[in-house]
Amino acid sequence: MKVLSTIAEITAYTAELKKAGKTIGLVPTMGALHEGHLTLMRAARAANDVVIASVFVNPIQFGPNEDYDKYPRMFEADCAKLESVNVDAVFHPDPAEMYPQGFCTYVNVDGDFTRKLCGASRPGHFRGVATVVTRLMNLSRADRAYFGQKDAQQVCVIKRFVNDLNIPVEVVMVPINREDSGLARSSRNAYLSDTEKQQALCLSRSLRKAEAAFAGGEKNVAALLKIVRDELAAEPAADVEYVELYDFPTLEPIETVEKESLMAMAVRIGKTRLIDNIIIG
Ligand code: AMP
Repeated sequence: MKVLSTIAEITAYTAELKKAGKTIGLVPTMGALHEGHLTLMRAARAANDVVIASVFVNPIQFGPNEDYDKYPRMFEADCAKLESVNVDAVFHPDPAEMYPQGFCTYVNVDGDFTRKLCGASRPGHFRGVATVVTRLMNLSRADRAYFGQKDAQQVCVIKRFVNDLNIPVEVVMVPINREDSGLARSSRNAYLSDTEKQQALCLSRSLRKAEAAFAGGEKNVAALLKIVRDELAAEPAADVEYVELYDFPTLEPIETVEKESLMAMAVRIGKTRLIDNIIIG
């Protein structure tokens, strides 16, 4: 696997690939890779000649009181995992390479839907994501880019700017990969103690309850939300930031579930903020 550290290196690499007529799949990550990330790599591997992953903890998508400094970094272990699923190249730049002095251009998706869910408590987060993903798409010259449903609102934002800015990349969403317990895999699960991991099961358990109620015919949004909120309230360790149910992917408010809709939550267990969701309908 090639390790590309600079913009010059990735630019030269992808120019050669394009000249040779290769299709390119891009999988952006912040590293601390787990099986969830690898499902994205495998999806990219199956559909493209060349797979480029990025491992970059993007400073501009973290708020001032968030976990940028303590975010887990383990590049060597990440490389071994990427090699195990036959990724061709990893782009791993320094922050100074991506944000040199004078950098001042941002992609700001300005729809109301960016201010809901995670956007409400993380101002500037999606601007940071949209800016770095646009640049990774440009640098990788990807035909397809792969993102997890785990960050479903991020997928909504990315699909929006790719469409609005006519970026010639197909955006592919990959389902959430979970531990056997139901816990959605996340690099931030590393912050959880064993007890907290048990407490964190209330997220997926509450979503499964809503899914079962929907399968049983319950389409009313207020009723579905109540099922989830009641289940979360039964776990004293869960500090709920939001639980919402919106149309997917517009994130418009709805009263009944008539088509694909996103039930999403952010819940703190101890000091760790976890997100999870299901798509129903
Ligand atoms: P991150 O490194 O957390 O920025 O995640 C990189 C990509 O992997 C994003 O598109 C995430 O949505 C995706 N991802 C993270 N966790 C999972 C998971 N459990 N299942 C599927 N995709 C995931």
